[in-house]
Amino acid sequence: MIVECERCGRKTAKVEVCNYCGRAVCFHCIKASKKVKRRDIKRLVICKDCWSKMEFRKMYRNNEPNIKIEFVL
Ligand SMILES: [Zn+2]
Ligand SMILES: [Zn+2]
Repeated sequence: MIVECERCGRKTAKVEVCNYCGRAVCFHCIKASKKVKRRDIKRLVICKDCWSKMEFRKMYRNNEPNIKIEFVL
Protein backbone atom coordinates (compact mmCIF):
# COMPACT_ATOMS: atom_id res chain seq x y z
CA MET A 1 0.00 0.00 0.00
CA ILE A 2 1.38 3.37 -1.04
CA VAL A 3 0.62 6.43 1.04
CA GLU A 4 1.51 10.08 0.74
CA CYS A 5 3.62 11.85 3.32
CA GLU A 6 1.67 14.74 4.86
CA ARG A 7 4.79 16.87 5.12
CA CYS A 8 6.63 16.52 1.81
CA GLY A 9 4.07 14.74 -0.37
CA ARG A 10 6.45 11.93 -1.20
CA LYS A 11 4.81 8.64 -2.01
CA THR A 12 6.04 5.93 0.28
CA ALA A 13 5.17 2.50 1.60
CA LYS A 14 5.67 3.53 5.21
CA VAL A 15 4.66 6.54 7.25
CA GLU A 16 4.71 7.20 10.97
CA VAL A 17 2.75 9.75 12.92
CA CYS A 18 4.73 12.59 14.45
CA ASN A 19 3.91 12.79 18.16
CA TYR A 20 4.07 16.58 18.04
CA CYS A 21 2.07 17.73 15.02
CA GLY A 22 0.09 14.53 14.38
CA ARG A 23 0.95 14.30 10.69
CA ALA A 24 1.79 11.03 8.99
CA VAL A 25 5.32 11.57 7.77
CA CYS A 26 7.74 9.52 5.71
CA PHE A 27 11.18 8.28 6.65
CA HIS A 28 12.82 11.40 5.14
CA CYS A 29 10.76 13.76 7.26
CA ILE A 30 11.36 12.00 10.56
CA LYS A 31 14.12 13.74 12.44
CA ALA A 32 14.31 11.25 15.29
CA SER A 33 12.48 8.42 16.94
CA LYS A 34 13.03 6.37 20.04
CA LYS A 35 11.49 3.76 22.26
CA VAL A 36 9.96 4.92 25.50
CA LYS A 37 8.72 3.05 28.51
CA ARG A 38 5.27 4.40 29.00
CA ARG A 39 1.84 2.95 29.46
CA ASP A 40 0.24 4.93 26.64
CA ILE A 41 2.87 4.78 23.92
CA LYS A 42 5.92 2.69 23.13
CA ARG A 43 7.59 4.95 20.64
CA LEU A 44 8.12 8.64 20.11
CA VAL A 45 8.49 10.13 16.65
CA ILE A 46 9.39 13.73 15.88
CA CYS A 47 9.42 15.26 12.39
CA LYS A 48 11.89 17.83 11.09
CA ASP A 49 9.41 20.71 11.47
CA CYS A 50 8.71 19.92 15.10
CA TRP A 51 12.39 19.41 15.80
CA SER A 52 12.97 23.05 14.91
CA LYS A 53 10.54 24.09 17.64
CA MET A 54 12.36 24.36 20.96
CA GLU A 55 9.28 23.49 22.97
CA PHE A 56 8.71 20.21 21.13
CA ARG A 57 12.38 19.30 21.11
CA LYS A 58 12.45 19.71 24.88
CA MET A 59 9.37 17.50 25.25
CA TYR A 60 10.99 14.86 23.06
CA ARG A 61 14.09 14.90 25.25
CA ASN A 62 11.89 14.43 28.30
CA ASN A 63 10.07 11.49 26.64
CA GLU A 64 6.91 13.56 26.64
CA PRO A 65 4.56 13.39 23.62
CA ASN A 66 2.38 16.30 22.52
CA ILE A 67 -0.10 13.95 20.91
CA LYS A 68 -0.57 10.49 22.34
CA ILE A 69 -0.88 8.63 19.13
CA GLU A 70 0.97 5.63 17.92
CA PHE A 71 0.43 4.63 14.36
CA VAL A 72 2.60 2.91 11.83
CA LEU A 73 1.45 2.16 8.34
ZN1 LIG B 1 8.00 13.28 3.93
ZN1 LIG C 1 5.76 17.03 13.59
